[in-house]
Amino acid sequence: MKVVIASHNRGKLGEFSALLAPLGLTLSDPGSLGIPAPQEDRTTFVENALDKARYVARASGLPALADDSGLVVPALGGAPGIRSARYAGENASDAENNALLIENLSRFEQPEAHYYCALVFVRAHDDPAPVIATGLWRGAIIAAPRGVHGFGYDPHFLVPEFNRTAAELTPDRKNRLSHRARALADLVAGLRESGDLPRRARPAAGA
Ligand code: IMP
Repeated sequence: MKVVIASHNRGKLGEFSALLAPLGLTLSDPGSLGIPAPQEDRTTFVENALDKARYVARASGLPALADDSGLVVPALGGAPGIRSARYAGENASDAENNALLIENLSRFEQPEAHYYCALVFVRAHDDPAPVIATGLWRGAIIAAPRGVHGFGYDPHFLVPEFNRTAAELTPDRKNRLSHRARALADLVAGLRESGDLPRRARPAAGA
């Protein structure tokens, strides 16, 4: 099945393609079809992903997959949340977003946080039954950055079971543990459930 992924981020396209190709899903990016980036102006990650998937399905006439993700800090009422990429301003850098996060958390000692990813698949722009998947990766925020891998808030995102930040994990390990990996596993389960992907063969009774 050919699917357009509603992301103009080449890295994500590569990551999702590698994981979905073995399942028979071929991804193309909207940029290569001349479709501009859609707005992300809703209240929740799920709504943003649904809007993006619908928009790209309408513009391309193909099934579409969209994701929306970010960092959620309960001590900050859920911020940076859907504004994660532009927490410190419209074109803010990772360094500026991280500086504001740490400043806003100065009263807290290693507050809990999680990364969240919503993935939405629509077969057409007017699909009445989108497949909606989510993934959550729990951690805590530390003030002093550590590690060189990853991007965004990773140097401040401590993964307690490894006592390492996301930026100290190898990309391979992060890709197995992350909110995106978890949402993708949930999506594949949803696509099998809906019959859009073949169900796994069940072991014979008594086997
Ligand atoms: P997007 O909308 O999924 O492209 O991501 C929005 C923003 O959330 C990114 O620009 C980052 O600030 C943050 N974010 C999402 N996933 C990650 C991650 O795996 N590591 C670090 N930051 C992330």
